[in-house]
Amino acid sequence: MKNAVDEIAGLIIEANKVALFTGAGVSTESGISDFRSPDGIWSRYDPEDFTIQRFVADKEARKRNWQLRRELVSANYQPNPAHHAIVELEKLGKLSCVITQNIDGLHHAAGNSEEKIIELHGTIKFTKCLKCDDRLLMVDVLKRIDEGEEDPHCKKCGGLIKAATISFGEAMPLDEMRRAESCSRECDIFIVIGSSLLVYPAASMPIVAKQAGAKLVIINYTPTDMDPQADIVIHEKAGKVMEAVLEKVKQNF
Ligand code: NAD
Repeated sequence: MKNAVDEIAGLIIEANKVALFTGAGVSTESGISDFRSPDGIWSRYDPEDFTIQRFVADKEARKRNWQLRRELVSANYQPNPAHHAIVELEKLGKLSCVITQNIDGLHHAAGNSEEKIIELHGTIKFTKCLKCDDRLLMVDVLKRIDEGEEDPHCKKCGGLIKAATISFGEAMPLDEMRRAESCSRECDIFIVIGSSLLVYPAASMPIVAKQAGAKLVIINYTPTDMDPQADIVIHEKAGKVMEAVLEKVKQNF
């Protein structure tokens, strides 16, 4: 791993624009399960329940959705060394953006600036009305459920309330997609951290970056289909690798 860490640090130091792309694997060391690992979320929940079509059509699926949201919100997960290293890269002036598929808000909690974070799949911190788009704090909606409202609807328009996350089959947020594409196209180095790179269109960002001439680095515990296209690949845990990369960058900055 040492040579690869030295190489990544060298690329970061040389680069003007570093884009990071994070997935569920950057948050497993905070205690949040990813989707596809053997003990991941899909070992306990049916992915079909998380399609927008099922959510709209089936009250029981909506209840299971709220149950998963409650698990994520009430555990009060905290950022881990990988999130903190990403904040340090921003402080060094190296970070042009962190494009995240995560909905857990841990890049915000760690201290990255709002304008650097692009949440492609939304956030668990808020809910949205599917009819009038009204946003509420997730904790307030969970409180309503606790108080007996098992299938919460919008008090303004009667529409269905859902977590402000992108479900399977739901349109991607246009502004975030545009920002992510432009950041990917303009960066000198694009670093994937903890993503299986199986969920599209998010997973097209490393391809956009590579085709535009960026160096592609993949730090993921298990192999991905894009490993052959990457310039550097490390199959280790994100926290350990990112701490080592940061230390090396700081030594030579
Ligand atoms: P995924 O579950 O498909 O893949 C996660 C990858 O991370 C796996 O390949 C795994 O080997 C790797 N990994 C696990 N722990 C790691 C670690 N400590 N260090 C390095 N790699 C590690 O996740 P994905 O690619 O992000 O899939 C996309 C979907 O998962 C997104 O839509 C996202 O919204 C959703 N998701 C998010 C969260 C979260 O917000 N924390 C949690 C679960 C799922």
